[in-house]
Amino acid sequence: MRLFFALVPDTASATAIGAWRDRQLPGQSRPVPLGNLHITLAFLGEVNSHRLERLCHDADVLAEGSAQSIITLHLDQLGYWPRPGVCWLGPSQWPERLDDLSTRLGAIGVAHGGKRSRGKYQPHITLLRSCREPPPAPLNAPAFDLQFDSFSLFQSRQGKRGVRYEPLADWSL
Ligand code: ATP
Ligand code: MG
Repeated sequence: MRLFFALVPDTASATAIGAWRDRQLPGQSRPVPLGNLHITLAFLGEVNSHRLERLCHDADVLAEGSAQSIITLHLDQLGYWPRPGVCWLGPSQWPERLDDLSTRLGAIGVAHGGKRSRGKYQPHITLLRSCREPPPAPLNAPAFDLQFDSFSLFQSRQGKRGVRYEPLADWSL
């Protein structure tokens, strides 16, 4: 099964971000459906379903030892990655705890046969796919404050109408 850990914006924030995107970046390639907006913490890729229980157990242990407080992110940066052709929204600064969480979840994934991710972690919400050029500078700069009190494990499935993310479990931060 194709797995990843992610933070999911609350519905009101996702709606506001989607509305901002549709106003600031109209007619740009393929908008990600509101229900799919997320911040990946760690992409595990293919993991054998037999490993799921232990993987979740390791996440339980991680969550039990966590600081027990919400993570606040200020999304103020519009970014573009030409190779995957994605336009994204993310914070320009973020708490160290987020890097830490990403690293630890990635390590849990690797321990159960998942992919090891390379490069520096940039938290982001993919807004648009199949972008062949950088997006135009938005007239209204993004400024979204998001709060997260949990993280989730998702299974990514390819459906007829595009990718679907099925939540498998979640944990308090
Ligand atoms: P699709 O691939 O169908 O366009 P998607 O990229 O959203 O959709 P997945 O490829 O299953 O679906 O990815 C799930 C999440 O993991 C997404 O946030 C994606 O950006 C991220 N992701 C996918 N592959 C990698 C990778 N190799 N390294 C880091 N993150 C990845
Ligand atoms: Mg993908």
